[in-house]
Amino acid sequence: MQLLEDRIIRDGKVFPGNILKVDSFLNHQIDVSLLEDIGKEFRRLFENDGVNKILTVESSGIGIACLTAQQFGVPVVFAKKSQTKNIAADVFTAKVHSYTHGRYYDIIVSKEFLKPEDRVLIIDDFLANGQALLGLLKIVKTAGAVPVGAGIVIEKGFQEGGKLIRETGLRVESLVIIDSMDEKGNVVFR
Ligand code: 5GP
Repeated sequence: MQLLEDRIIRDGKVFPGNILKVDSFLNHQIDVSLLEDIGKEFRRLFENDGVNKILTVESSGIGIACLTAQQFGVPVVFAKKSQTKNIAADVFTAKVHSYTHGRYYDIIVSKEFLKPEDRVLIIDDFLANGQALLGLLKIVKTAGAVPVGAGIVIEKGFQEGGKLIRETGLRVESLVIIDSMDEKGNVVFR
């Protein structure tokens, strides 16, 4: 997606540890018009897949998921991040290792909002090592719902997540894939 590549070149900042900050348009301040274009692109990519629910994880996936859901006319469910030891019985859970924070957390989704008849499109902002996506996929499968695919805004192609997730058989559509980047601002797209 050329628009997104141009925006990353213009406004993205590369930090130590291979972290790309996109706080000025995606992760802190949000360019809603860009998100609308992103939503339309995910709609185009998955329009024939019978999607009836969008699943993401709080917090940075929510805005993207909402503008995507608007294009499909379906609801968004976001997994909540939980630090509590006592997980209720009426939720699906998965343990996720956070790339950006270097620790484990649980993600939870109420059983009320994911059912076997659901055809779920998973949306997230970044795909790095794939742990967040694996956790969401586990929840969809545990619910007995159908994971139709994952829509990712930015895949860091030099990390293992893309390969890991595609090997599970899940269709992954990334709007941009970064093959390399450095702190001088050089970003190479696939
Ligand atoms: P993964 O589980 O694939 O390793 O990481 C995915 C999650 O980590 C995303 O939901 C995103 O919030 C965060 N993340 C991973 N890499 C980056 C990055 O380079 N920049 C930002 N802003 N977030 C990242």
